[in-house]
Amino acid sequence: MIVILDKSATDEQIENVIKQLEYFGFDVHKSGGDEYIAIGAIGVKPNFDIRKIQLLDGVVTVFRVTDQINLASRKSKKENTLIKVKDVTIGGNEVIVMSGPCSIENEDQIFKIAKIVKAHGAKILRGGAFKPRTSPYSFQGLGEEGLKYIRAAGDEFDLPVVTEVLEIKHLELVNKYADIFQVGSRNMQNFPLLRELGKTNKPVLLKRGFSATIEEWLMSAEYILSGGNENVILCERGIRTFETSTRNTFDLSAIPVVHQKSHLPVIADPSHAIGLRDKIIPMARAAIAADADGLLIEVHHDPTNALSDGPQALLPEQFSELMLQIKQIAEVIGRRIGESSVEKIL
Ligand code: PEP
Ligand code: MN
Repeated sequence: MIVILDKSATDEQIENVIKQLEYFGFDVHKSGGDEYIAIGAIGVKPNFDIRKIQLLDGVVTVFRVTDQINLASRKSKKENTLIKVKDVTIGGNEVIVMSGPCSIENEDQIFKIAKIVKAHGAKILRGGAFKPRTSPYSFQGLGEEGLKYIRAAGDEFDLPVVTEVLEIKHLELVNKYADIFQVGSRNMQNFPLLRELGKTNKPVLLKRGFSATIEEWLMSAEYILSGGNENVILCERGIRTFETSTRNTFDLSAIPVVHQKSHLPVIADPSHAIGLRDKIIPMARAAIAADADGLLIEVHHDPTNALSDGPQALLPEQFSELMLQIKQIAEVIGRRIGESSVEKIL
């Protein structure tokens, strides 16, 4: 940790900062320049609250040199983490597309959509049975009935399934049907849920909280990793800013930042980030160019009548177009998107 003091700090203030740092167990080294006085505080204290020093008289700022992100950090593991789900590997050279409706609405709907997305190259089927809706009056999902339908559709079309676990009490139930647990944006800091997921060994798709910094997001991943579950996939789904033209602001720069800071795979969800069907394709292209390890895309064959997120669902023909376009972009940056199986399925 480095403590910067104003050059006009008094001897008494400097002595006080040094005394406090020593009190907290740091090894202290003082150096000075014309513009400022710097104090290096050496010692590994991951839980130390830097505000204890920040608030002392004469202190301008405090930097943490080693951060608290440990297991999720690229410093602790140089190689990319590869997450295997059945025949699919997330985090390798292949860009993985996870797709399906926002909510599972009935058996026919999820089967129809599973067939479409599989035919065009999606590798994982997504759909919510427990929905985190802002309003308690909105459709909340079919619960276990929905889980049964998505599992059956996944099995029919040979697609692993990702679905959201909303609360601890559903964990066992969702575990019975899902191949990947999704943690939604609103639950990114539900620490008890993250701890429970850390005790499982099933992959967790951890969506970024819409007001979370990248550091906070990685700290949430740390909760799961520190419980012993190494299979965390990060998902950038847009953050809340002052801009209102789109549902959220797609923080594409988070993708290269996360790749630098962490060995965990990061996928991009332009559907929730942008929220408007006609802007999903260009932003999905941009996410692939930014080196996302995959995409999460909502698709619906009848979005006008969808029970949730219809306006952001791609129509089947748009999904097909998207897959063709991102394939070419992936190639340009030396990655690939697995073959689609249109001939086999349609
Ligand atoms: C979803 O994936 O359908 C969802 C509700 O996403 P988020 O948690 O990102 O809002
Ligand atoms: Mn949705």
